[in-house]
Amino acid sequence: MNDVNVDCLVIGAGVAGCSAALALCAQHSVVIIDRLAEPVPRIGETLPASAERMIRRLTLWDEFLSDNHTRTLGSISCWGSSRPTIRDGFLDPSGLGWSLDRIRFERMFRKAATRRGVRIIAPGQVVNLDRNPLEWIAQIQSADGPQSIAARFVILANGRRGFPPVRRAGVDQIAHDKLVCRYVRVPRGVPAPYSAFTVTEAVEEGWWYAGATADGRRILAYHTDADMPTARRACSRSGFLEMLKETYLLASCASDQVPDVARASARSQSSVNSYGLGWCAVGDATCAFDPLSSQGLFHALFTGISAGEALADASRRDDTAALANYENTIRGIVTTYRSNLTACYALEKRFYRNEFWARRQSSKTSWRSGNGAMKGALGNAALLSSSGLRATPASSETAPGAFN
Ligand SMILES: Cc1cc2nc3c(=O)[nH]c(=O)nc-3n(C[C@H](O)[C@H](O)[C@H](O)COP(=O)(O)OP(=O)(O)OC[C@H]3O[C@@H](n4cnc5c(N)ncnc54)[C@H](O)[C@@H]3O)c2cc1C
Repeated sequence: MNDVNVDCLVIGAGVAGCSAALALCAQHSVVIIDRLAEPVPRIGETLPASAERMIRRLTLWDEFLSDNHTRTLGSISCWGSSRPTIRDGFLDPSGLGWSLDRIRFERMFRKAATRRGVRIIAPGQVVNLDRNPLEWIAQIQSADGPQSIAARFVILANGRRGFPPVRRAGVDQIAHDKLVCRYVRVPRGVPAPYSAFTVTEAVEEGWWYAGATADGRRILAYHTDADMPTARRACSRSGFLEMLKETYLLASCASDQVPDVARASARSQSSVNSYGLGWCAVGDATCAFDPLSSQGLFHALFTGISAGEALADASRRDDTAALANYENTIRGIVTTYRSNLTACYALEKRFYRNEFWARRQSSKTSWRSGNGAMKGALGNAALLSSSGLRATPASSETAPGAFN
């Protein structure tokens, strides 16, 4: 006997998991489980203006506006040339982008889900996940003790990390590179040139990024491959500051007040499949982008909503055409993203002898010259917008069942 029976169990209460739950909860019972009681501070504070459409779709736009996130005026980059290029946000047809208060942003989704009848178990862990012919049985551990949840469908929204019980079922991630990020959150008062802009600067063995957070602080981040010498050097505060001093745009931020350096994986990766028998993956769990793209949160919203709607459709029609179409859309996104990413890195030719850049120069894909490679310039937003939010039916001949 299971303690709880639901239509859908979502693993992960980030933006993707909550968006999926919000898209489903009008017609289906949904439980979300997250290992964290509350969202925690994390890097990833730039939201492209084009995300408005999806936040509106979840009817959260008024709440978003009342949360005091701030606007970015555009981006400045030294990429492919030592001469800075400015991209004025006012010229972007979608409007100005946003610097988020990331915790408030994630909290907004959790609160909305709870208000609309989704039960969130947090902190909670899925200790085992098994499937019988009809449903999943999740053994979970939370503050209320152990319990079991029976769910007809599971949505994996657990971010970049693999989820061991499901990985055994075949949800493998393919890593496309070894990018890592070393970053600091700079306190207010430290010199912050171009603080209303996002800043990107290519250097010998990687690239730097600076962006403001909604609370007036600044993120400074260095990206390179995990096996490059500067990946190690940038882990220490002194190494990080020495390297920062060598930059053209950000040298003046190298202050004694800079705190210890945090680390994150920033590699591009994608799951082998985005759905299967009784499950689908959303957000970073289906593909995670190079931070150069600034498309992670947009993608989390898009895939969360698309998967939630596809699942509702699959349940209504009792077939999996919409989920098969969701999978096709994801494959299209990954292909376009990888081609744009290669083209974007190929714009930087000054350091072609360095292994970091050489690894990224192999594709023949062309990128319109003169664009500048700025964080967020990869165009996935345009791709996703043009793909629309609704799935059009595709063949389900070989597709495994959704709710069966
Ligand atoms: C260095 C860096 C910079 C970035 N900058 C940007 C940016 O500027 N703009 C942008 O749009 N994107 C950025 N991103 C990407 C963005 O942060 C992610 O794409 C986005 O957070 C994905 O949302 P998600 O909901 O899929 O996953 P997550 O936000 O990772 O949420 C996953 C949730 O699942 C929970 N979880 C994980 N495992 C389990 C488990 N086993 N059981 C229960 N719960 C679990 C976690 O606690 C978490 O709450 C950046 C990423 C990196 C690495």
